[in-house]
Amino acid sequence: MANKLTENDIQYLKRCLELAAEAVNAGDEAFGSVLVDDSGTIITEARNRVNEKTVLAHPEIDLAYGAAENLTEKERAATTMYTTGEHCPMCAAAHGWVGLGALVYLSSAEQLANWQKESALPAAPINFLPVEEIIKNIAVRGPGDGELLAEIKRLHQKSWLSD
Ligand SMILES: [Zn+2]
Repeated sequence: MANKLTENDIQYLKRCLELAAEAVNAGDEAFGSVLVDDSGTIITEARNRVNEKTVLAHPEIDLAYGAAENLTEKERAATTMYTTGEHCPMCAAAHGWVGLGALVYLSSAEQLANWQKESALPAAPINFLPVEEIIKNIAVRGPGDGELLAEIKRLHQKSWLSD
Protein backbone atom coordinates (compact mmCIF):
# COMPACT_ATOMS: atom_id res chain seq x y z
CA MET A 1 0.00 0.00 0.00
CA ALA A 2 1.03 3.62 -0.41
CA ASN A 3 2.86 5.68 2.19
CA LYS A 4 1.51 7.57 5.16
CA LEU A 5 0.67 11.26 4.95
CA THR A 6 2.95 13.91 6.46
CA GLU A 7 1.83 16.92 8.56
CA ASN A 8 2.50 19.07 5.50
CA ASP A 9 0.27 16.86 3.34
CA ILE A 10 -2.57 17.30 5.80
CA GLN A 11 -2.50 21.11 5.45
CA TYR A 12 -2.89 20.89 1.67
CA LEU A 13 -5.57 18.20 1.95
CA LYS A 14 -7.55 20.50 4.24
CA ARG A 15 -7.63 23.04 1.40
CA CYS A 16 -8.77 20.24 -0.95
CA LEU A 17 -11.58 19.47 1.50
CA GLU A 18 -12.69 23.12 1.41
CA LEU A 19 -12.85 22.91 -2.39
CA ALA A 20 -14.80 19.64 -2.18
CA ALA A 21 -17.27 21.29 0.22
CA GLU A 22 -17.62 24.20 -2.20
CA ALA A 23 -18.39 21.68 -4.97
CA VAL A 24 -21.09 20.00 -2.88
CA ASN A 25 -22.65 23.35 -2.01
CA ALA A 26 -22.79 24.11 -5.74
CA GLY A 27 -24.53 20.79 -6.46
CA ASP A 28 -21.40 18.98 -7.70
CA GLU A 29 -19.67 15.91 -6.31
CA ALA A 30 -17.25 16.12 -3.39
CA PHE A 31 -13.88 16.32 -5.09
CA GLY A 32 -11.26 19.06 -4.69
CA SER A 33 -7.59 19.21 -5.70
CA VAL A 34 -4.60 21.55 -5.62
CA LEU A 35 -1.31 21.57 -7.50
CA VAL A 36 1.74 22.63 -5.47
CA ASP A 37 5.17 23.62 -6.83
CA ASP A 38 8.56 22.64 -5.42
CA SER A 39 8.59 25.65 -3.07
CA GLY A 40 5.31 24.51 -1.49
CA THR A 41 3.18 27.21 -3.14
CA ILE A 42 -0.28 26.27 -4.40
CA ILE A 43 -0.18 27.07 -8.14
CA THR A 44 -3.75 26.11 -9.06
CA GLU A 45 -6.89 24.80 -7.43
CA ALA A 46 -9.87 23.00 -8.88
CA ARG A 47 -13.06 21.31 -7.80
CA ASN A 48 -15.55 18.97 -9.38
CA ARG A 49 -17.73 20.75 -11.97
CA VAL A 50 -19.58 17.77 -13.44
CA ASN A 51 -23.01 19.32 -12.99
CA GLU A 52 -21.81 22.68 -14.24
CA LYS A 53 -19.86 21.42 -17.32
CA THR A 54 -19.70 17.75 -18.36
CA VAL A 55 -19.22 14.36 -16.71
CA LEU A 56 -15.52 14.70 -17.54
CA ALA A 57 -15.02 17.82 -15.41
CA HIS A 58 -12.95 16.19 -12.66
CA PRO A 59 -10.61 18.59 -10.81
CA GLU A 60 -7.43 16.60 -11.44
CA ILE A 61 -7.75 16.58 -15.23
CA ASP A 62 -8.49 20.31 -15.03
CA LEU A 63 -5.21 20.83 -13.11
CA ALA A 64 -3.35 18.60 -15.58
CA TYR A 65 -4.59 20.70 -18.54
CA GLY A 66 -3.56 23.90 -16.76
CA ALA A 67 -0.09 22.54 -16.04
CA ALA A 68 0.35 21.33 -19.63
CA GLU A 69 -0.48 24.81 -20.88
CA ASN A 70 1.40 26.91 -18.34
CA LEU A 71 4.36 25.02 -16.87
CA THR A 72 7.60 23.72 -18.40
CA GLU A 73 8.32 20.01 -18.37
CA LYS A 74 10.78 20.52 -15.51
CA GLU A 75 8.29 22.57 -13.47
CA ARG A 76 5.59 19.96 -14.03
CA ALA A 77 7.85 17.16 -12.80
CA ALA A 78 8.55 19.12 -9.60
CA THR A 79 4.86 19.52 -8.67
CA THR A 80 2.81 17.55 -6.19
CA MET A 81 -0.91 17.04 -6.74
CA TYR A 82 -3.09 16.88 -3.62
CA THR A 83 -6.60 15.57 -4.04
CA THR A 84 -9.50 14.44 -1.88
CA GLY A 85 -9.92 11.21 -3.86
CA GLU A 86 -7.48 8.95 -5.63
CA HIS A 87 -7.51 9.63 -9.39
CA CYS A 88 -9.89 7.80 -11.66
CA PRO A 89 -8.11 6.17 -14.63
CA MET A 90 -8.83 9.21 -16.86
CA CYS A 91 -7.21 11.63 -14.42
CA ALA A 92 -4.36 9.22 -13.68
CA ALA A 93 -3.58 9.04 -17.39
CA ALA A 94 -3.69 12.86 -17.66
CA HIS A 95 -1.35 13.16 -14.64
CA GLY A 96 1.05 10.72 -16.28
CA TRP A 97 0.92 12.19 -19.80
CA VAL A 98 1.51 15.71 -18.49
CA GLY A 99 4.43 14.46 -16.38
CA LEU A 100 3.29 15.84 -13.03
CA GLY A 101 5.19 14.81 -9.89
CA ALA A 102 3.96 13.09 -6.76
CA LEU A 103 0.34 12.38 -5.86
CA VAL A 104 -1.19 12.66 -2.38
CA TYR A 105 -4.78 11.56 -1.90
CA LEU A 106 -7.14 11.49 1.07
CA SER A 107 -9.43 8.58 0.20
CA SER A 108 -8.60 5.68 -2.10
CA ALA A 109 -10.74 4.69 -5.07
CA GLU A 110 -11.51 1.47 -3.21
CA GLN A 111 -12.77 3.34 -0.13
CA LEU A 112 -14.97 5.55 -2.30
CA ALA A 113 -16.41 2.50 -4.08
CA ASN A 114 -17.26 0.98 -0.69
CA TRP A 115 -18.98 4.16 0.48
CA GLN A 116 -20.97 4.27 -2.76
CA LYS A 117 -22.03 0.68 -2.19
CA GLU A 118 -23.10 1.49 1.39
CA SER A 119 -25.30 4.27 0.01
CA ALA A 120 -26.70 1.93 -2.69
CA LEU A 121 -25.46 4.15 -5.54
CA PRO A 122 -25.25 2.66 -9.01
CA ALA A 123 -21.77 1.42 -9.90
CA ALA A 124 -19.51 3.57 -12.10
CA PRO A 125 -19.41 2.65 -15.81
CA ILE A 126 -15.62 2.13 -15.72
CA ASN A 127 -13.23 0.03 -13.66
CA PHE A 128 -11.02 1.80 -11.16
CA LEU A 129 -7.37 0.84 -10.85
CA PRO A 130 -4.75 1.90 -8.31
CA VAL A 131 -2.89 4.91 -9.80
CA GLU A 132 0.42 3.02 -9.68
CA GLU A 133 -1.01 0.63 -12.28
CA ILE A 134 -1.57 3.52 -14.68
CA ILE A 135 1.24 6.02 -13.96
CA LYS A 136 4.78 4.62 -14.13
CA ASN A 137 7.25 5.57 -11.40
CA ILE A 138 4.92 7.80 -9.42
CA ALA A 139 5.45 8.67 -5.75
CA VAL A 140 2.11 8.26 -3.96
CA ARG A 141 1.02 9.00 -0.40
CA GLY A 142 -2.41 8.07 0.93
CA PRO A 143 -4.99 7.29 1.99
CA GLY A 144 -5.42 9.47 5.07
CA ASP A 145 -7.28 8.44 8.21
CA GLY A 146 -9.11 9.75 11.27
CA GLU A 147 -11.14 12.95 11.19
CA LEU A 148 -9.86 14.01 7.77
CA LEU A 149 -11.02 10.78 6.12
CA ALA A 150 -14.34 10.93 7.99
CA GLU A 151 -14.86 14.46 6.67
CA ILE A 152 -14.55 13.49 3.00
CA LYS A 153 -16.89 10.55 3.56
CA ARG A 154 -19.45 12.94 5.10
CA LEU A 155 -19.12 15.32 2.14
CA HIS A 156 -19.70 12.50 -0.36
CA GLN A 157 -22.76 11.30 1.53
CA LYS A 158 -24.11 14.85 1.63
CA SER A 159 -23.72 15.19 -2.14
CA TRP A 160 -25.43 11.85 -2.77
CA LEU A 161 -28.38 12.76 -0.54
CA SER A 162 -29.00 15.87 -2.61
CA ASP A 163 -29.03 13.91 -5.92
ZN1 LIG B 1 -11.04 11.65 -12.66
